[in-house]
Amino acid sequence: MQIILMGNVGVGKGTQAQRISAAYSIPHISTGHIFRNHIRGNTDIGKEVRGYIEAGQLVPDELTCRIVADRTLEADCTGGYILDGFPRSVPQAEEFERVLGAREANIDLAINLELPDDEIIERLTARRSCPTCGAIYNLRSNPPAQDGQCDNADCVGGRLIQRKDDTVETIRKRLDIYYDTTKPILAFYGERGILRTVDAAGQSPDGVFAKIEAFVSQYNTVRG
Ligand code: AMP
Repeated sequence: MQIILMGNVGVGKGTQAQRISAAYSIPHISTGHIFRNHIRGNTDIGKEVRGYIEAGQLVPDELTCRIVADRTLEADCTGGYILDGFPRSVPQAEEFERVLGAREANIDLAINLELPDDEIIERLTARRSCPTCGAIYNLRSNPPAQDGQCDNADCVGGRLIQRKDDTVETIRKRLDIYYDTTKPILAFYGERGILRTVDAAGQSPDGVFAKIEAFVSQYNTVRG
């Protein structure tokens, strides 16, 4: 099953994508995570994308699409995958549809998580993550057991970090980009009949996940 997880920055896509990945045994592909790994490894791609990411801007479509097209050809993707943070523009959605069409494949579900802007800003400024395993915490709603430390036993000694693009000023820029460039892809998937929207306001991660599971099982029932 190929699923796209959409929604504004900070709506909880990463957290839900990890859960979908575990529940349906499909890899979680996060373009943001791939880019941050390149930056950490100081690769050529990392050097190319660092400036865009730290400024809260989108990485150019061509590079982003190439990375996703290659990643989805890897062996672990034969049974499907969950895409988190891609596509983020109509040209990316169009290009990916072309790529999948050439493979006689398609997206099964595009799940959109919705949350008001003030709740997004509140969540993102309290977000911390583990640079080693990618676990995501929230200082208010989901703090680590020990201040500043990942709960995962394999990450002992690793300090949680705040992303450089999670400052209020950069978050506002990312919100603007979402409304101008990313939100129009909802109509793109809506026209294809695969868009499903989850209202995540005031919901716990479990509550949001239950709604996502309901859409997936509805899809599986209809498909037979
Ligand atoms: P995320 O972790 O999904 O919030 O992504 C972090 C940053 O990576 C974004 O603010 C962009 O700079 C970049 N990025 C991630 N996915 C994409 C994409 N599909 N297109 C362009 N830039 C992206």
